[in-house]
Amino acid sequence: MKVFKFGGASVRDAEAVRNVAAVLKLYAGEEIVVVVSAMGKMTNALEEIAYSYVNKKEDTKKLLQGIKRYHLEILEELFSDKSRPIFEQVNNAFVEIEWILEDEPIKGYDFEYDQIVSVGELISTKIVSALLTETGINNKWVDVRDFLKTDNTYREAKVDWELTEKKIKELLLPKLSSQESGGVVVTQGFVGVTSENYNTTLGREGSDYTAAIIGSLLDAEEVIIWKDVPGVLSADPKWFDNTEKLDALSYHDAIELAFFGATVIHPKTIKPLQNKQILLKVKSFYEPKEAGTIITATKEVSEDQQKIPSFIFKVDQVLISIIPRDYSFIIEENLSEIFKKFANYQVKVNLMQHAALSFSVCVDGEVNRVPNLIEELQKDFKVLYNENVELVTVRNYDQKTIDQVTKGKKIFVEQKSRQTARFVVKNNG
Ligand code: ASP
Ligand code: MG
Repeated sequence: MKVFKFGGASVRDAEAVRNVAAVLKLYAGEEIVVVVSAMGKMTNALEEIAYSYVNKKEDTKKLLQGIKRYHLEILEELFSDKSRPIFEQVNNAFVEIEWILEDEPIKGYDFEYDQIVSVGELISTKIVSALLTETGINNKWVDVRDFLKTDNTYREAKVDWELTEKKIKELLLPKLSSQESGGVVVTQGFVGVTSENYNTTLGREGSDYTAAIIGSLLDAEEVIIWKDVPGVLSADPKWFDNTEKLDALSYHDAIELAFFGATVIHPKTIKPLQNKQILLKVKSFYEPKEAGTIITATKEVSEDQQKIPSFIFKVDQVLISIIPRDYSFIIEENLSEIFKKFANYQVKVNLMQHAALSFSVCVDGEVNRVPNLIEELQKDFKVLYNENVELVTVRNYDQKTIDQVTKGKKIFVEQKSRQTARFVVKNNG
Protein backbone atom coordinates (compact mmCIF):
# COMPACT_ATOMS: atom_id res chain seq x y z
CA MET A 1 0.00 0.00 0.00
CA LYS A 2 0.91 3.64 -0.45
CA VAL A 3 0.19 6.77 1.55
CA PHE A 4 -0.54 10.01 -0.33
CA LYS A 5 -0.61 13.40 1.27
CA PHE A 6 -2.38 16.31 -0.36
CA GLY A 7 -1.70 19.69 1.24
CA GLY A 8 -3.78 22.84 1.34
CA ALA A 9 -2.64 24.07 -2.08
CA SER A 10 -3.66 20.80 -3.70
CA VAL A 11 -7.26 21.29 -2.56
CA ARG A 12 -7.52 25.06 -2.63
CA ASP A 13 -10.36 25.25 -5.15
CA ALA A 14 -12.75 23.08 -7.15
CA GLU A 15 -10.31 22.55 -9.97
CA ALA A 16 -7.58 21.47 -7.55
CA VAL A 17 -9.92 18.97 -5.89
CA ARG A 18 -10.76 17.51 -9.31
CA ASN A 19 -7.06 17.23 -9.96
CA VAL A 20 -6.70 15.07 -6.83
CA ALA A 21 -9.12 12.65 -8.45
CA ALA A 22 -7.10 12.75 -11.67
CA VAL A 23 -3.91 11.90 -9.78
CA LEU A 24 -5.60 9.01 -8.00
CA LYS A 25 -6.86 7.62 -11.29
CA LEU A 26 -3.24 7.06 -12.29
CA TYR A 27 -2.98 4.63 -9.39
CA ALA A 28 -6.21 2.73 -10.01
CA GLY A 29 -6.26 -0.70 -8.40
CA GLU A 30 -3.73 0.15 -5.69
CA GLU A 31 -4.38 0.40 -1.99
CA ILE A 32 -3.92 4.01 -0.97
CA VAL A 33 -4.43 5.97 2.22
CA VAL A 34 -5.11 9.57 1.20
CA VAL A 35 -4.23 12.13 3.86
CA VAL A 36 -5.64 15.59 3.21
CA SER A 37 -5.02 19.02 4.78
CA ALA A 38 -7.49 21.84 5.19
CA MET A 39 -8.33 23.62 1.94
CA GLY A 40 -6.10 26.47 0.77
CA LYS A 41 -5.41 28.88 3.60
CA MET A 42 -8.23 27.64 5.80
CA THR A 43 -6.01 26.70 8.72
CA ASN A 44 -4.87 30.31 8.94
CA ALA A 45 -8.46 31.48 8.72
CA LEU A 46 -9.57 29.08 11.44
CA GLU A 47 -6.64 30.19 13.56
CA GLU A 48 -7.99 33.70 13.34
CA ILE A 49 -11.34 32.49 14.59
CA ALA A 50 -9.73 30.72 17.54
CA TYR A 51 -7.75 33.84 18.37
CA SER A 52 -10.74 36.10 18.04
CA TYR A 53 -12.92 33.79 20.15
CA VAL A 54 -10.44 33.38 22.97
CA ASN A 55 -9.68 37.09 23.05
CA LYS A 56 -13.37 37.96 22.81
CA LYS A 57 -13.05 40.11 19.73
CA GLU A 58 -16.01 41.34 17.75
CA ASP A 59 -15.29 39.74 14.42
CA THR A 60 -15.52 36.04 15.31
CA LYS A 61 -18.87 35.44 13.61
CA LYS A 62 -17.86 37.40 10.55
CA LEU A 63 -14.69 35.36 10.16
CA LEU A 64 -16.73 32.20 10.32
CA GLN A 65 -19.05 33.49 7.61
CA GLY A 66 -16.06 34.01 5.34
CA ILE A 67 -14.89 30.45 5.86
CA LYS A 68 -18.34 29.07 5.19
CA ARG A 69 -18.65 31.05 1.99
CA TYR A 70 -15.29 29.82 0.73
CA HIS A 71 -16.22 26.17 1.23
CA LEU A 72 -19.71 26.62 -0.13
CA GLU A 73 -18.37 28.11 -3.34
CA ILE A 74 -16.13 25.10 -3.85
CA LEU A 75 -18.99 22.75 -3.05
CA GLU A 76 -21.32 24.45 -5.49
CA GLU A 77 -18.75 24.28 -8.21
CA LEU A 78 -18.12 20.59 -7.60
CA PHE A 79 -21.70 19.42 -7.10
CA SER A 80 -24.57 20.92 -8.99
CA ASP A 81 -27.19 19.09 -6.97
CA LYS A 82 -27.55 20.90 -3.65
CA SER A 83 -29.56 18.11 -2.06
CA ARG A 84 -26.44 15.99 -1.90
CA PRO A 85 -25.57 14.80 1.62
CA ILE A 86 -22.16 16.49 1.38
CA PHE A 87 -23.80 19.91 1.74
CA GLU A 88 -25.33 18.89 5.03
CA GLN A 89 -22.18 17.18 6.24
CA VAL A 90 -20.15 20.33 5.71
CA ASN A 91 -22.83 22.38 7.36
CA ASN A 92 -22.80 20.07 10.38
CA ALA A 93 -19.08 20.57 10.74
CA PHE A 94 -19.63 24.32 10.95
CA VAL A 95 -22.31 23.80 13.56
CA GLU A 96 -19.63 22.18 15.72
CA ILE A 97 -17.68 25.43 15.59
CA GLU A 98 -20.80 27.47 16.32
CA TRP A 99 -21.44 25.41 19.43
CA ILE A 100 -17.94 26.06 20.65
CA LEU A 101 -18.34 29.79 20.06
CA GLU A 102 -21.47 29.88 22.19
CA ASP A 103 -19.57 28.81 25.27
CA GLU A 104 -17.04 30.76 27.27
CA PRO A 105 -13.43 30.03 26.22
CA ILE A 106 -12.42 28.75 29.62
CA LYS A 107 -9.91 26.14 28.65
CA GLY A 108 -7.28 28.38 27.13
CA TYR A 109 -6.09 29.24 23.66
CA ASP A 110 -4.23 26.06 22.77
CA PHE A 111 -7.14 23.84 23.71
CA GLU A 112 -9.78 25.93 21.94
CA TYR A 113 -7.49 26.28 18.94
CA ASP A 114 -7.34 22.53 18.44
CA GLN A 115 -11.10 22.08 18.78
CA ILE A 116 -11.75 24.78 16.18
CA VAL A 117 -8.87 24.47 13.74
CA SER A 118 -9.18 20.69 13.28
CA VAL A 119 -12.55 21.22 11.65
CA GLY A 120 -10.72 22.42 8.52
CA GLU A 121 -9.42 18.92 7.83
CA LEU A 122 -12.73 17.27 8.68
CA ILE A 123 -14.41 19.38 6.04
CA SER A 124 -11.76 19.10 3.34
CA THR A 125 -11.70 15.30 3.59
CA LYS A 126 -15.48 15.10 3.38
CA ILE A 127 -15.40 17.14 0.21
CA VAL A 128 -12.53 15.22 -1.35
CA SER A 129 -14.13 11.89 -0.52
CA ALA A 130 -17.47 12.95 -2.02
CA LEU A 131 -15.81 14.21 -5.18
CA LEU A 132 -13.84 10.99 -5.59
CA THR A 133 -17.05 9.01 -5.31
CA GLU A 134 -18.63 11.35 -7.85
CA THR A 135 -15.83 10.68 -10.34
CA GLY A 136 -16.13 6.93 -9.92
CA ILE A 137 -13.31 6.35 -7.45
CA ASN A 138 -14.66 4.15 -4.67
CA ASN A 139 -13.34 5.25 -1.33
CA LYS A 140 -14.06 5.33 2.35
CA TRP A 141 -13.89 8.43 4.56
CA VAL A 142 -12.27 7.60 7.87
CA ASP A 143 -12.13 9.77 10.96
CA VAL A 144 -8.46 10.00 11.93
CA ARG A 145 -9.58 10.42 15.54
CA ASP A 146 -10.59 6.77 15.55
CA PHE A 147 -6.94 5.76 15.47
CA LEU A 148 -4.45 8.61 15.83
CA LYS A 149 -4.20 8.85 19.60
CA THR A 150 -2.16 11.57 21.28
CA ASP A 151 -1.44 13.14 24.64
CA ASN A 152 -3.03 16.48 25.52
CA THR A 153 -0.23 18.82 24.47
CA TYR A 154 -2.62 20.92 22.45
CA ARG A 155 -1.23 22.41 19.22
CA GLU A 156 1.81 20.13 19.38
CA ALA A 157 0.33 16.81 20.44
CA LYS A 158 2.62 13.84 20.99
CA VAL A 159 1.57 10.63 19.34
CA ASP A 160 0.84 7.59 21.49
CA TRP A 161 2.60 5.22 19.09
CA GLU A 162 1.59 1.99 20.76
CA LEU A 163 -2.09 2.73 20.96
CA THR A 164 -2.10 4.28 17.50
CA GLU A 165 -0.47 1.19 16.03
CA LYS A 166 -3.04 -1.04 17.67
CA LYS A 167 -5.97 1.08 16.51
CA ILE A 168 -4.68 1.63 13.01
CA LYS A 169 -4.29 -2.09 12.48
CA GLU A 170 -7.68 -2.82 13.94
CA LEU A 171 -9.55 -0.07 12.15
CA LEU A 172 -7.78 1.23 9.11
CA LEU A 173 -6.27 -1.90 7.63
CA PRO A 174 -9.55 -3.81 7.23
CA LYS A 175 -11.13 -0.78 5.59
CA LEU A 176 -8.30 -0.49 3.14
CA SER A 177 -8.77 -4.00 1.88
CA SER A 178 -12.57 -3.94 1.97
CA GLN A 179 -14.74 -4.11 -1.13
CA GLU A 180 -16.57 -1.01 -0.05
CA SER A 181 -13.51 1.25 0.01
CA GLY A 182 -12.20 -0.03 -3.30
CA GLY A 183 -8.76 0.23 -1.70
CA VAL A 184 -8.89 3.99 -1.14
CA VAL A 185 -9.26 5.49 2.32
CA VAL A 186 -9.48 9.25 2.82
CA THR A 187 -8.50 10.70 6.18
CA GLN A 188 -7.42 13.93 7.87
CA GLY A 189 -3.89 15.14 8.27
CA PHE A 190 -2.71 17.23 11.23
CA VAL A 191 -5.46 16.05 13.59
CA GLY A 192 -5.40 13.60 16.48
CA VAL A 193 -7.41 12.89 19.60
CA THR A 194 -6.76 12.58 23.34
CA SER A 195 -7.89 9.69 25.53
CA GLU A 196 -10.75 11.96 26.61
CA ASN A 197 -11.81 12.44 23.00
CA TYR A 198 -10.74 16.04 22.62
CA ASN A 199 -9.30 17.06 19.28
CA THR A 200 -5.59 17.75 19.11
CA THR A 201 -3.30 18.97 16.34
CA LEU A 202 0.25 17.92 15.59
CA GLY A 203 1.74 21.38 14.92
CA ARG A 204 1.41 23.55 11.83
CA GLU A 205 1.93 21.76 8.53
CA GLY A 206 1.56 18.52 10.44
CA SER A 207 -0.25 16.60 7.72
CA ASP A 208 3.04 15.35 6.31
CA TYR A 209 3.74 13.90 9.71
CA THR A 210 0.35 12.20 9.73
CA ALA A 211 1.20 10.57 6.41
CA ALA A 212 4.52 9.40 7.84
CA ILE A 213 2.88 8.01 10.98
CA ILE A 214 0.41 6.01 8.91
CA GLY A 215 3.05 4.95 6.41
CA SER A 216 5.44 3.72 9.05
CA LEU A 217 2.84 1.91 11.17
CA LEU A 218 1.37 0.16 8.16
CA ASP A 219 4.76 -0.51 6.52
CA ALA A 220 3.78 1.29 3.36
CA GLU A 221 5.82 0.66 0.26
CA GLU A 222 6.08 4.44 -0.17
CA VAL A 223 4.72 7.77 1.01
CA ILE A 224 4.13 10.46 -1.60
CA ILE A 225 3.73 14.12 -0.70
CA TRP A 226 1.96 15.89 -3.56
CA LYS A 227 3.03 19.53 -3.95
CA ASP A 228 2.72 22.48 -6.29
CA VAL A 229 6.47 22.32 -6.93
CA PRO A 230 8.32 19.68 -8.96
CA GLY A 231 10.00 18.22 -5.87
CA VAL A 232 12.39 19.36 -3.16
CA LEU A 233 14.13 22.44 -4.52
CA SER A 234 17.54 23.84 -3.59
CA ALA A 235 15.76 27.00 -2.39
CA ASP A 236 12.27 28.30 -1.84
CA PRO A 237 11.19 29.94 -5.13
CA LYS A 238 9.45 32.56 -2.99
CA TRP A 239 12.87 34.04 -2.17
CA PHE A 240 15.10 32.85 -4.99
CA ASP A 241 14.95 32.86 -8.78
CA ASN A 242 17.56 30.22 -9.42
CA THR A 243 16.30 27.06 -7.90
CA GLU A 244 17.25 23.57 -8.81
CA LYS A 245 15.21 20.45 -8.22
CA LEU A 246 17.02 17.81 -6.20
CA ASP A 247 16.42 14.39 -7.77
CA ALA A 248 17.38 12.47 -4.68
CA LEU A 249 18.11 13.27 -1.07
CA SER A 250 19.20 11.12 1.82
CA TYR A 251 16.91 10.84 4.84
CA HIS A 252 19.64 12.56 6.80
CA ASP A 253 19.86 15.57 4.48
CA ALA A 254 16.11 15.81 4.32
CA ILE A 255 15.91 15.90 8.11
CA GLU A 256 18.51 18.66 8.22
CA LEU A 257 16.82 20.73 5.54
CA ALA A 258 13.46 20.40 7.24
CA PHE A 259 14.96 21.09 10.65
CA PHE A 260 16.57 24.29 9.38
CA GLY A 261 13.26 25.45 8.00
CA ALA A 262 12.78 24.18 4.46
CA THR A 263 9.01 24.15 4.34
CA VAL A 264 8.67 21.46 1.72
CA ILE A 265 8.55 18.65 4.28
CA HIS A 266 7.53 18.85 7.91
CA PRO A 267 10.57 18.17 10.12
CA LYS A 268 8.98 15.29 12.00
CA THR A 269 8.07 13.42 8.84
CA ILE A 270 11.31 11.75 7.91
CA LYS A 271 12.43 9.93 11.04
CA PRO A 272 9.55 7.42 11.23
CA LEU A 273 10.08 6.62 7.56
CA GLN A 274 13.84 6.36 7.87
CA ASN A 275 13.46 3.94 10.78
CA LYS A 276 11.62 1.57 8.50
CA GLN A 277 13.44 2.55 5.31
CA ILE A 278 10.20 3.56 3.65
CA LEU A 279 10.67 5.54 0.47
CA LEU A 280 9.42 9.12 0.60
CA LYS A 281 8.68 10.96 -2.62
CA VAL A 282 7.83 14.59 -3.18
CA LYS A 283 5.99 15.00 -6.45
CA SER A 284 4.11 17.67 -8.35
CA PHE A 285 0.37 17.28 -8.51
CA TYR A 286 0.49 19.23 -11.78
CA GLU A 287 2.85 16.70 -13.34
CA PRO A 288 2.13 13.50 -11.49
CA LYS A 289 4.01 11.36 -13.97
CA GLU A 290 7.32 13.15 -13.35
CA ALA A 291 9.74 11.56 -10.92
CA GLY A 292 9.90 14.39 -8.37
CA THR A 293 12.38 13.97 -5.52
CA ILE A 294 13.12 10.65 -3.92
CA ILE A 295 14.17 10.57 -0.28
CA THR A 296 16.01 7.43 0.58
CA ALA A 297 19.12 5.92 2.19
CA THR A 298 22.38 7.87 1.64
CA LYS A 299 23.96 5.18 -0.48
CA GLU A 300 21.24 5.58 -3.09
CA VAL A 301 22.03 9.27 -3.62
CA SER A 302 24.72 10.24 -6.14
CA GLU A 303 27.64 12.41 -5.01
CA ASP A 304 26.71 15.21 -7.40
CA GLN A 305 23.29 15.43 -5.88
CA GLN A 306 24.81 15.48 -2.41
CA LYS A 307 26.85 18.60 -3.23
CA ILE A 308 24.20 21.00 -4.52
CA PRO A 309 23.93 24.04 -2.20
CA SER A 310 20.53 24.51 -0.60
CA PHE A 311 19.22 27.75 0.90
CA ILE A 312 16.67 28.00 3.61
CA PHE A 313 15.03 31.21 4.76
CA LYS A 314 13.04 31.55 7.93
CA VAL A 315 11.40 34.94 8.11
CA ASP A 316 9.55 36.56 10.99
CA GLN A 317 12.11 35.49 13.54
CA VAL A 318 12.91 37.11 16.85
CA LEU A 319 16.46 37.26 18.14
CA ILE A 320 16.41 37.25 21.93
CA SER A 321 19.52 37.98 24.01
CA ILE A 322 19.43 37.01 27.65
CA ILE A 323 21.84 38.63 30.06
CA PRO A 324 22.13 37.94 33.79
CA ARG A 325 21.38 41.13 35.72
CA ASP A 326 24.43 40.80 37.92
CA TYR A 327 26.69 40.20 34.92
CA SER A 328 27.53 36.78 36.23
CA PHE A 329 28.48 34.30 33.60
CA ILE A 330 25.79 32.28 31.96
CA ILE A 331 26.37 29.04 33.73
CA GLU A 332 24.62 25.73 33.58
CA GLU A 333 22.05 26.65 36.19
CA ASN A 334 21.01 29.72 34.27
CA LEU A 335 20.81 27.76 31.07
CA SER A 336 18.66 25.00 32.45
CA GLU A 337 16.34 27.63 33.93
CA ILE A 338 16.19 29.45 30.62
CA PHE A 339 15.48 26.30 28.63
CA LYS A 340 12.73 25.31 31.03
CA LYS A 341 11.01 28.60 30.28
CA PHE A 342 11.28 28.08 26.54
CA ALA A 343 9.74 24.65 26.94
CA ASN A 344 6.96 25.96 29.17
CA TYR A 345 6.01 28.57 26.62
CA GLN A 346 6.45 26.11 23.74
CA VAL A 347 8.76 28.47 21.91
CA LYS A 348 10.95 26.71 19.39
CA VAL A 349 14.62 27.57 19.36
CA ASN A 350 15.99 27.73 15.84
CA LEU A 351 19.53 28.82 16.64
CA MET A 352 21.53 29.59 19.76
CA GLN A 353 24.70 31.47 20.46
CA HIS A 354 26.49 31.33 23.77
CA ALA A 355 28.81 34.17 24.76
CA ALA A 356 30.50 34.98 28.03
CA LEU A 357 27.88 37.36 29.34
CA SER A 358 24.89 36.57 27.24
CA PHE A 359 22.97 33.83 25.61
CA SER A 360 21.14 34.53 22.35
CA VAL A 361 18.47 32.53 20.62
CA CYS A 362 16.60 32.94 17.40
CA VAL A 363 12.96 31.82 17.61
CA ASP A 364 9.79 31.88 15.51
CA GLY A 365 7.97 35.18 16.09
CA GLU A 366 4.84 33.55 17.50
CA VAL A 367 2.43 36.32 18.59
CA ASN A 368 0.86 34.36 21.40
CA ARG A 369 3.98 32.84 22.88
CA VAL A 370 7.06 34.98 22.43
CA PRO A 371 5.87 38.15 24.23
CA ASN A 372 4.79 36.06 27.23
CA LEU A 373 8.09 34.25 27.26
CA ILE A 374 10.03 37.52 27.12
CA GLU A 375 7.99 38.86 30.01
CA GLU A 376 8.76 35.75 32.01
CA LEU A 377 12.47 35.93 31.22
CA GLN A 378 12.55 39.58 32.24
CA LYS A 379 11.72 38.58 35.80
CA ASP A 380 15.21 37.15 36.19
CA PHE A 381 17.30 38.50 33.36
CA LYS A 382 17.95 41.54 31.30
CA VAL A 383 16.44 40.76 27.90
CA LEU A 384 17.16 42.44 24.59
CA TYR A 385 15.32 41.45 21.48
CA ASN A 386 15.17 42.19 17.81
CA GLU A 387 11.99 41.46 15.93
CA ASN A 388 11.50 40.71 12.25
CA VAL A 389 14.89 39.24 11.66
CA GLU A 390 15.54 36.42 9.19
CA LEU A 391 17.39 33.21 9.74
CA VAL A 392 19.28 32.02 6.67
CA THR A 393 20.81 28.58 6.41
CA VAL A 394 23.03 27.45 3.54
CA ARG A 395 23.81 23.76 3.26
CA ASN A 396 26.90 22.87 1.22
CA TYR A 397 27.90 26.53 1.21
CA ASP A 398 30.67 28.42 -0.56
CA GLN A 399 31.61 32.11 -0.40
CA LYS A 400 29.59 32.93 -3.49
CA THR A 401 26.38 31.56 -2.05
CA ILE A 402 27.01 33.31 1.25
CA ASP A 403 27.51 36.66 -0.48
CA GLN A 404 24.33 36.07 -2.38
CA VAL A 405 22.18 35.49 0.69
CA THR A 406 23.64 38.19 2.90
CA LYS A 407 23.78 40.96 0.29
CA GLY A 408 22.27 44.22 1.58
CA LYS A 409 21.60 42.78 5.01
CA LYS A 410 22.91 43.48 8.46
CA ILE A 411 24.35 40.34 10.03
CA PHE A 412 23.65 39.80 13.74
CA VAL A 413 24.84 36.24 14.17
CA GLU A 414 27.03 34.06 11.99
CA GLN A 415 27.71 30.36 12.53
CA LYS A 416 29.55 27.92 10.33
CA SER A 417 30.05 24.22 10.48
CA ARG A 418 31.62 22.01 7.84
CA GLN A 419 28.48 21.69 5.77
CA THR A 420 26.25 24.45 6.99
CA ALA A 421 26.48 28.23 7.33
CA ARG A 422 23.80 30.08 9.26
CA PHE A 423 23.07 33.79 9.61
CA VAL A 424 20.63 35.90 11.54
CA VAL A 425 20.12 38.98 9.37
CA LYS A 426 17.91 41.99 8.92
CA ASN A 427 17.28 44.03 5.81
CA ASN A 428 19.24 47.28 5.87
CA GLY A 429 17.16 50.40 5.99
N1 ASP B 1 -3.71 22.39 7.59
C1 ASP B 1 -2.61 22.34 8.50
C2 ASP B 1 -1.76 23.55 8.34
O1 ASP B 1 -1.96 24.32 7.41
C3 ASP B 1 -1.81 21.11 8.37
C4 ASP B 1 -1.11 20.96 7.04
O2 ASP B 1 -1.45 21.64 6.09
O3 ASP B 1 -0.21 20.15 6.96
O4 ASP B 1 -0.88 23.77 9.13
MG1 MG C 1 -2.02 23.51 5.14
